[in-house]
Amino acid sequence: MQMPLLDFKIYILFGFPGAGKGTFAQALKEKGYIHVSTGDILREEVKKQTPIGLKYKREIESASNLLPKNIIQKIILDKIIMLIERRENLILDGFPKTIEQAKYLNKLIEKYSLNQNIHIIYLDVPIDLALARIQARITCSECGKIYNLLTIKPKTNGKCDVCEALLVQRAFIKGSFCLTRL
Ligand SMILES: [Zn+2]
Repeated sequence: MQMPLLDFKIYILFGFPGAGKGTFAQALKEKGYIHVSTGDILREEVKKQTPIGLKYKREIESASNLLPKNIIQKIILDKIIMLIERRENLILDGFPKTIEQAKYLNKLIEKYSLNQNIHIIYLDVPIDLALARIQARITCSECGKIYNLLTIKPKTNGKCDVCEALLVQRAFIKGSFCLTRL
């Protein structure tokens, strides 16, 4: 049996988009935590021009369905395992999202004896407040910079100030969030 690795923490953030997970994660990042975000990992793949990255880019541009869940899952799990083995302080945001992912995470918790390391945070905000925040928020599809249509507008409509890439907005579709083209 493996010894518990008690010298690091893993925060798992839950809550609607717009609940404040990003703000919470930012505060932990300033303390040296690594933010494992599905969006950031996929943007990294785009930057490295991997086959998955290129596919993801095409899907954003055509506003079609997101990548198959199993591909996204594999990329994220590989990253999480690598960081756990390095005993990094982690923030998981947007993972686990499904029962299957939660079961897999459970296996990791057992395998690495992580019971003492995991902290689960659920950010509970009224749905209309979360919606209002989300409707005003747009994100760069390449570098991940976040804008707000009310407070931090981009200089050119729909384009990132930093890298000129397409800005995308999350919207409600059939009860879940997805990316839409502006
Ligand atoms: Zn950008």
